[in-house]
Amino acid sequence: MIVTRRPLIAGNWKMNGLSGDGLALAGELARRIEDAADPAFDLLICPPFTLISRIGEALAGSAIALGGQDCHAVETGAHTGDISAAMLADSGCTHVIVGHSERRADHAETDTQVSAKVAAVRSAGLVAVLCIGETEAQRDAGETNAVVARQLADSLPDGATAMNTVIAYEPVWAIGTGRTPSVAEVEAVHALIRGDLAKRLGDDEAARLRLLYGGSVKPDNARELMSLADVDGALVGGASLKADDFWSIAQSSA
Ligand code: PEP
Repeated sequence: MIVTRRPLIAGNWKMNGLSGDGLALAGELARRIEDAADPAFDLLICPPFTLISRIGEALAGSAIALGGQDCHAVETGAHTGDISAAMLADSGCTHVIVGHSERRADHAETDTQVSAKVAAVRSAGLVAVLCIGETEAQRDAGETNAVVARQLADSLPDGATAMNTVIAYEPVWAIGTGRTPSVAEVEAVHALIRGDLAKRLGDDEAARLRLLYGGSVKPDNARELMSLADVDGALVGGASLKADDFWSIAQSSA
């Protein structure tokens, strides 16, 4: 079966953006995608929780999708400071990043907890952008494939489809560092992920599911990374905060 996967370029704004600059950035991207008329990629932005509703209103009618950067595993209740997937859906989100390495490191999130969050995202009718990737120490120990396979097995609950799941391979040591794996390394890990998904979901569903690469994607390396067979877009941190850079990365994927 020959499948064409439409690239997804996702911006993770992390804890950046007050209303002035956040709304201006979203507005500028909305203007560009409208001018592009029929772009050959999908754009997703994941602002901080505080801006989601206002950016959602500003993006009404735009082709840009809106996502959260995390959610709680349950829908309501006594969880001070947390946000549920249902709340994100209610605020206009269609996607949620889950299991980002900064959540795993800063909040000690385990694969089991991440898996429960992915399930919550699905229950809310949203798409989970599940992040997996090895640390530098794991890479140096030759454990990349084993770590990625284990995280995929343990943090992706059964029932994944190309409609409810996107996987982002993000080597932890490449995030925010300006360093990236070689294209051969990215190709090998993405092929491993696709192969593992095929065993769990079947060849057809695995062939439809989008695999993003994340970690220091910039305008000058995006074209090479996005041209790889099993790379279907990017999860972009720092470069997603500049309209020119984010747009240039998106154009490189088409
Ligand atoms: C990220 O945090 O998901 C990320 C990929 O960051 P950066 O692009 O800044 O490396």
